Amino acid sequence: MANATLKIDLDALCANWKTLAALSASETGAVVKADGYGLGAERVATALARAGVRTFFVATSEEGASLRAALGPGPTINVFAGHMSGDTDMISDLQLTPMINSIDQMLRHVEALPGHTFGVQLDSGMNRLGMEPAEWHAVRDIVIEQRPSLIMSHLACADEPDNPMNAYQLEVFNEMTEGLGIPRSLAATGGILMGKEYHFDMTRPGIGLYGGQPFTDAQIVARVSLPVIQTRDIEEGETVGYGNSWIAKRPSRIATVGAGYADGIFRALSGKLSLFHRDSPCPVAGRVSMDSMGVDITDLSEDPKHLDLLNSEQTVDSLAQAAGTIGYEILTSLGQRYTRRYKG
Ligand SMILES: *Cc1c(COP(=O)(O)O)cnc(C)c1O
Repeated sequence: MANATLKIDLDALCANWKTLAALSASETGAVVKADGYGLGAERVATALARAGVRTFFVATSEEGASLRAALGPGPTINVFAGHMSGDTDMISDLQLTPMINSIDQMLRHVEALPGHTFGVQLDSGMNRLGMEPAEWHAVRDIVIEQRPSLIMSHLACADEPDNPMNAYQLEVFNEMTEGLGIPRSLAATGGILMGKEYHFDMTRPGIGLYGGQPFTDAQIVARVSLPVIQTRDIEEGETVGYGNSWIAKRPSRIATVGAGYADGIFRALSGKLSLFHRDSPCPVAGRVSMDSMGVDITDLSEDPKHLDLLNSEQTVDSLAQAAGTIGYEILTSLGQRYTRRYKG
């Protein structure tokens, strides 16, 4: 079999949720947008529901619809994009809870689905989604009469606990929501780690569940192993891969592994990436191709059957650092070609 394998440890995922829930002062939800950060929303959410999660968050109503099919009627499914035009039937038929982002969405929602549950998303400074303070003050009393299920906002800099933006957004959020008697939510993974004043009535961890920073105590959830398709000996001065960018400085042994940039192994990592045989790093030789890449295994004492991209030696965050990105992007880029094995 030439497919690379993506092993997803659902027990570790649930353990991460439990650890974050123990830190949270209130109910702990779970964010499973973007197909559960690339790891498979259905499997991830089903495992989390079994572990005790009652409230899920997704980006769009379409994601919410497939999640409802997987979870059945019990859990709450909140949609960050709110009530978009064309979403009404899905929201109604599948009992989704749109997080209303604007007066326009509010009008659409009450006209199309009067009495249907909704939440409100406020902008406390990130300027991405949600009602601005002025907009909110204009409609707040009318909206509160409709008893939203949740009022939420999102922190822009929660991965930097010392950034003054956090305290600023906390103050703005408190000002906008104090004394309304509606459950509130501000913290994602980073906010949970910043302490109880950020927790309110509901926390919304995403990346920490999947084993990524800023949750440093996370257990590893995703492991990726790439099959060795072929090995060869080359002489000093021979080249490997497109563009001849790698030239052997010594007689070398090269393994060609079966995964490439179509599997989320960014071509920009060429020259900066190593794969692992147990705990031994083996540098990638030359450019990452679409479906394969060469790896310098000269220093190994045996030919490996596979080499690891993600394991305990190379985490989503160390790989992200090499690629100049964040663990979120590594996970959501992995793509659909891996053979997926779920544990737990
Ligand atoms: C993605 C997202 C989350 C989860 O954030 P993490 O940093 O992955 O924990 C929570 N809330 C909103 C609004 C989001 O967009």
